[in-house]
Amino acid sequence: STPGGPRAREEKIVVTVRLRPLNRKEQLAKDQVAWDCIDDFTIVYKPPANERAAQPASFTFDKVFGPACLTEAVYEEGVKNVALSALMGINATIFAYGQTSSGKTYTMRGITEKAVNDIYKHIMNTTERDFTIKISGLEIYNENVRDLLNSESGRNLKLLDDPEKGTVVEKLVEETAKDDKHLRHLISICEAQRQVGETALNDTSSRSHQIIRLTIQSTLRENADCVRSFVATLNFVDLAGSERAAQTHADGTRLREGCHINLSLMTLTTVIRKLSVGKRSGHIPYRDSKLTRILQHSLGGNARTAIICTLSPALSHVEQSRNTLYFATRAK
Ligand code: ADP
Ligand code: MG
Repeated sequence: STPGGPRAREEKIVVTVRLRPLNRKEQLAKDQVAWDCIDDFTIVYKPPANERAAQPASFTFDKVFGPACLTEAVYEEGVKNVALSALMGINATIFAYGQTSSGKTYTMRGITEKAVNDIYKHIMNTTERDFTIKISGLEIYNENVRDLLNSESGRNLKLLDDPEKGTVVEKLVEETAKDDKHLRHLISICEAQRQVGETALNDTSSRSHQIIRLTIQSTLRENADCVRSFVATLNFVDLAGSERAAQTHADGTRLREGCHINLSLMTLTTVIRKLSVGKRSGHIPYRDSKLTRILQHSLGGNARTAIICTLSPALSHVEQSRNTLYFATRAK
């Protein structure tokens, strides 16, 4: 069977927006909801009574998920087709992009879990092929690469250029998952390892990128004279807070830069913007950061990408939310 519909096969970059509910802290502070999802594709700015409507008020995407939507729906409608293409040998990357506290980790964890369930469901239903799934996990903090499956010595890992595989992370541990339960266990080790870093170094999650990478290989059974192998990587990427991207105008020109700018995040936004423009975009600066080097073969070309832009509904965050929506608009 072929996962994904016809539309799924056409779209290279799927951009969706997820607006979370007001959290407790925001409620206690009497923060107001500044955004409204008026239909499945449109999010609008709802200015408070004392403010005249300013700036572009309405943004349209492949799909917009409101505060009542569950991660299940975000997965089914925004991610599934991209994720499952990795079962057919097509590299794929799923990103969560948004300011700190907008819901990236919450969304990405749920998405990863749903994708794993779905992948194993498809494997069970595909009797004619044998699958092998390998997993690695890494974190990029300050352009340093850390192995999330090897807390002992997996620090400051080097990137190497392999003539066949492209950029590889030297000494990165890759485990073969025995089954879905084992895979979930390995993912939980990566997630726990990232949190260890978080408490040791203040505020790391706003500055670091986490990648959970599955390598999915499959071979056609029995037919010895026609062994067809597929291999693809599927990346789940929980990005640093988007407040660390360079601020840009709606037209993409640079607004201001500060010392808080994260090189990998800034390079990624440039790469995605250029990929969305298409063939005329010229040189794509994959090599300018660790994140984009590591993801190079899973971005652009035949690879498929899903970007979930997470948004806080709070009026106090309206400027960052607008920046996220500008990024999302340019990624299309
Ligand atoms: P980020 O990773 O972007 O910094 P988190 O994923 O940690 O943000 O989310 C911040 C807080 O908001 C967490 O307490 C999380 O549980 C909660 N949260 C995020 N998204 C949602 C959502 N869609 N529904 C309910 N709670 C959410
Ligand atoms: Mg987070």
